[in-house]
Amino acid sequence: MSQLDHRQVIAIDGPAAAGKSTVARLLADRIGAMLFDTGALYRAVTLAAARAGISPGDGQALAGLTRRLRIEIAPASIDDGRQVDVLLDGEDVTWAIRTADIDARVSEVSAHPAVRDALLDAQRSITGGVKVVMVGRDIGTVVIPQAGAKIYLKASAAERARRRLAELQGRCIEATFEQVLDDLNARDAYDSSRETAPLAAANDAIVVDTDNRPVEEIVNEIQRIAEAAWRQAGVTGE
Ligand code: C5P
Repeated sequence: MSQLDHRQVIAIDGPAAAGKSTVARLLADRIGAMLFDTGALYRAVTLAAARAGISPGDGQALAGLTRRLRIEIAPASIDDGRQVDVLLDGEDVTWAIRTADIDARVSEVSAHPAVRDALLDAQRSITGGVKVVMVGRDIGTVVIPQAGAKIYLKASAAERARRRLAELQGRCIEATFEQVLDDLNARDAYDSSRETAPLAAANDAIVVDTDNRPVEEIVNEIQRIAEAAWRQAGVTGE
């Protein structure tokens, strides 16, 4: 397999619950691209740390743990609403990494430079000649700055909280609007203010506001942006 041409990546960054995963899944299916949701890596590390009794503040221990873990992201093998399978040392942790407890810990774990560093290669060294839709917080700024198209998805906090609440209710998880809003605001504040690779739009990212817009329209817009960029750069994706 050949090394990935980073220009074949569509980078989608943005705050929590801005619609990144939903938009990315639809877009990837439509253009035959692979979906890589990098948040799953940080969530899997957070789960493993909680199980091992490592504090979210202990950067050194977390980095050591991260280097020992085998985290795999594979196409969804079960039709239960999941976007992908997430495997931690072979165990299916797809839903275990999406609990309120992980939500509450993940930003502190992700802020350690050594943890981020330990996950960088896994994000950069995808192989194959395929297009990739990559979702995260720092894809356009740090992980793949040569991405063919960089999108920063944004939405108001209230809209994001409504979406996240609906998603939790769909999974029969109880939460109030206020709890969800507080979690999103806390996570975004932490993610935006950390020193290493903070949540930010790249200078050359196109900011797409998803408030009050049907998801299909947003997918169409990003597809147009990416295809125009690929045409201009002569990227074929074969
Ligand atoms: O996207 P998701 O909500 O699953 O991400 C969970 C957390 O992982 C984020 O709040 C952030 O702290 C961290 N993250 C990150 N960099 C990324 C993706 C996620 O720091 N590229």
